Amino acid sequence: MAERSKQTVRDLRRGSRSTLLQRLYFEGPLSRQELGRISGLSAGSVSNVIGELLTDGLVEECGSVESDGGRPRILLQVPPGRAHLVGVDVGETQVRVALFDLGLTEIAASDQPLSDCGHDVDHVVELILTGITEVLAATGTDPATVLGVGVGVPGIVEQGDPGADGLGIVVHSQTVDWDAVPLGRLLRAGTDLPLYVDNGAKTLGQAEMWFGAGQGARHAVVALFGSGVGACVIADGARFRGATSSAGEWGHTKVHVGGRLCRCGSRGCLEAYVGAEALVERWGRAPAGSSEKAGLAALLTAFEAGEEDAVALLTEAAEYFGSAIADLINLFNPERIVIGGWAGLMVGPRLLPAIREAATAYALRFPRAQTSIELGRLGPDAVTVGAATLPLWHFLESGGDLPQRLTTAAAARA
Ligand SMILES: [Zn+2]
Repeated sequence: MAERSKQTVRDLRRGSRSTLLQRLYFEGPLSRQELGRISGLSAGSVSNVIGELLTDGLVEECGSVESDGGRPRILLQVPPGRAHLVGVDVGETQVRVALFDLGLTEIAASDQPLSDCGHDVDHVVELILTGITEVLAATGTDPATVLGVGVGVPGIVEQGDPGADGLGIVVHSQTVDWDAVPLGRLLRAGTDLPLYVDNGAKTLGQAEMWFGAGQGARHAVVALFGSGVGACVIADGARFRGATSSAGEWGHTKVHVGGRLCRCGSRGCLEAYVGAEALVERWGRAPAGSSEKAGLAALLTAFEAGEEDAVALLTEAAEYFGSAIADLINLFNPERIVIGGWAGLMVGPRLLPAIREAATAYALRFPRAQTSIELGRLGPDAVTVGAATLPLWHFLESGGDLPQRLTTAAAARA
């Protein structure tokens, strides 16, 4: 019994640390008084927990504001330079590794194109590990200050046993031919850093919800429109995962029974009609040897010049895309739909009016009227930012758990 109540006190303390850290991280700088008001914690608890966080170096004073008639109130924030995060985007054509400070400002990045062997697992693992080494070396960053490495991948991610050792992480991806790839174990062989892996569309969704066009929404869908198509569904503020985390494979919903062959092996998927790879292939007039991005840019230029086949193709794509958004509206009743991903951000500014129009034509009137459709705000590299939010979330949720050596360093300073 005594053991149990000790556990409960510890859990409460951890919960309070997590609450105050999250408030300071997302809404700071704030004073102790403001923290008490918005967190619902008593002045005594706030004072104790903030004292602890100051000692741990997880919170710092950053100026003061006048208060009515009283003493100036000290402002507090989470120090952005206190630790680092690594975000990795295993994309369609390259592996991007970026180093961020705790405030998610990018400090360094390494972009490595996938070679001819494409998504060969050993090749991808090697590029990730090389990228991590590169960004740390280029900035002289001590690996002990890195809270973890988040990796966004084009596939379904089974998390296995919880914990940052990552050994249980397995990825399934029909589009890049990964069949139960033990990505956590393979990466673990080359790095000691805590590891977190999730689907790229999900990490993009988390980034847009926290810092971009999704902010403030409780019910939203963040659509990733790149070479392929995916989605992250947010229901009542939490990500909708499904039984084994694969929910949101929107790109493989059917828009045409018996239709075009998709990269997943099935037919008639949305991705086979509007994914960038499919669009460039269907157009068939991109300069030989050009990358997919260059191909899509050429298609857009042809569309803007009024070339008939380009106009027909992108007009039809906007209708497919808008009608698929109508399905999301009818299924999930979101208040907001955010379109991100490099292709979405490239063609979105031109096609958004037609996409909205198609969504209106195909969705039920009442839920459509409650839904806004917007473009993402975090740019084409949002998957990398989103990947870095995976270790960041662990840090905030745990009430500021640091890797061992960082804790030791803070203790030495105290
Ligand atoms: Zn498919």
